[in-house]
Amino acid sequence: MDEQAESEHWKQKYLDSLDELEVKEQQWSTVEQVLRQGLARLTLAADSHDHELNILLEKLRRGLRSGIDGDELRTLLERMAGPIRRLDESRKVGDPPPAANELLESILGRIDFPHGMGHRAKALQKQLLQADEVPEAKLIEAFIILIEDALHWQQQGDDGQEAGKRGLLSKLLPGRAREADSEDTLHSGRQVLSSMLDRLHDHPDVDQQALQERIDGSRQQAELLRLGRELAGLLHLGPPQPVVDGEELSSVELMLQLLERLEVPAELEDEVNAIREILARPDVAEHMERVIGAIAELVREMRHRLMDEKSEIESFLSLITERLREIDEGIQLSVSNQREAFEGGRLLDRQVGEQMDGITQTVSLAQDLDSLKQTIATRVDTIRSHMTQFRQDQGQRLEQAEQQVQQLNERMRNMQQESERLRQRVKQQRDLAMVDPLTGVPNRLAYNERMELEYARWKRYGHGLVMAVWDVDRFKSVNDTYGHQAGDKVLTVIAKLLQRQIRETDFVARFGGEEFVLIMPETDLDGAAKVTEHLRKSVAACEFHFRGKRVPITISCGYSEFKGQDSAEQVFSRADAALYKAKEGGRNQCRIG
Ligand code: GH3
Ligand code: MG
Ligand code: MG
Repeated sequence: MDEQAESEHWKQKYLDSLDELEVKEQQWSTVEQVLRQGLARLTLAADSHDHELNILLEKLRRGLRSGIDGDELRTLLERMAGPIRRLDESRKVGDPPPAANELLESILGRIDFPHGMGHRAKALQKQLLQADEVPEAKLIEAFIILIEDALHWQQQGDDGQEAGKRGLLSKLLPGRAREADSEDTLHSGRQVLSSMLDRLHDHPDVDQQALQERIDGSRQQAELLRLGRELAGLLHLGPPQPVVDGEELSSVELMLQLLERLEVPAELEDEVNAIREILARPDVAEHMERVIGAIAELVREMRHRLMDEKSEIESFLSLITERLREIDEGIQLSVSNQREAFEGGRLLDRQVGEQMDGITQTVSLAQDLDSLKQTIATRVDTIRSHMTQFRQDQGQRLEQAEQQVQQLNERMRNMQQESERLRQRVKQQRDLAMVDPLTGVPNRLAYNERMELEYARWKRYGHGLVMAVWDVDRFKSVNDTYGHQAGDKVLTVIAKLLQRQIRETDFVARFGGEEFVLIMPETDLDGAAKVTEHLRKSVAACEFHFRGKRVPITISCGYSEFKGQDSAEQVFSRADAALYKAKEGGRNQCRIG
């Protein structure tokens, strides 16, 4: 080829190459355009949890926007390879674990917070949701404090949150509440013993005050039981009766007086009347042995009744002791339950404390977010399960304790009912013992009691107080002429008449036989003269008929006023001496003493 042709050939080749290059450049720029857009989109989509990768992606984004040369691009992509591999590997493990803030938030959501703490938990949940994935230390701290507070609440009980529940807990707590319970029980016991002591009020061997002090001072059921036995022993014999005065009395009169002095309960009145009937018979001497046998039987029966009462009181006391023991056991159980609850709370506190320490440590040492999340999740799960367990135990303990309290209350109620029943019985018997069964007016025992009261009042206020002693005139002849039963009727009518006519504040009692005694408080001698005279006249005016014939019955009276340092016995003696003068003066009259 010539030189010309060869240069043309190369020129053409060059031009062709240029064309080719131009086409290729155009293609490259299209490809680059697409590549840039694709990469930019990719960097946005690839926003990762990996901090380092994020920085590289951001660089790449900026580079792609402003133009980046091949070398820079290569370097960047090479640096990204490591983090991307890590990301890929972590994705292979499964779903990405929730961020720490979400994790804490969901934990709070799952915990059943006590009433009154819910709003705090809610507020913290909200803050956590708005927080960074790894929440600031302040929020983690708040989370820990909240959980600690919840646990503290669990351990302390609801302290002022719910009055009903707290009442129950305070019932179980050792201390004041428990003392009040047993004090109540002891109180019932003391009431019973005091009623028993009342029955012994005129027993010569009984120091009423000292015994009452012992009863009031008793602090244990064993002490009460001991005292109860003592009192029951004393009750068994009752007060000895004064010796019958009358050496010159006939044996029949002696028997009658004996019957009179015996405090026979109303249910045995028929037996007494039967004996009296025999005693009234003209051939009584032949039946003396029977009479003595019948009286002995009567005494035996009375004794028997007293024994019954004694054993009833005894069995009641042992019942009280048994109940007290049960109650004490119940309380012991409640206390040990409470202790268990307390210890359970302490254990939980310790367990949670350990987990919390662990969390704090993990947070401060953590390098790696995933393991941090994992550890916190595990620890919080452990706390949650401890709390659930504690709550369950606590619930069971409360239920048990509630049952125990219910049982205790029931026993307490039963015991109170029983002691009330016994108290009523003792009172009934006491009331019965105060009434004269023949006439239905108060007897000598009641007189003694009332006199003591009026005497104390007189001493205190110094108002007038007059005592009158009455005796039916020639009563023996009524008995002798018309029989003992007629005599009884006369006594009954006179007793009722006296009682009906006196003022409410006055007091009349059958002192014994055909004698009555009248106490007139707030009365001077003038007033007493009028009252006694009125009573004497109304008895005299009363019409007694026997065997179709009117029999005049009269009574005589001696009365005297309390003055100076008088004792009741002194005033009685003066009144009695005046009564004697009235008899001497012709009977059916009242004399001042
Ligand atoms: P005076 O006027 O001096 O008091 O004479 P009197 O007969 O009343 O005296 P005395 O004290 O000698 O007699 C009392 C009698 O009363 C003796 C006794 O048999 C009788 N008596 C005592 N208690 C009862 C009783 O409960 N019923 C009956 N029917 N008689 C009784
Ligand atoms: Mg007499
Ligand atoms: Mg008389």
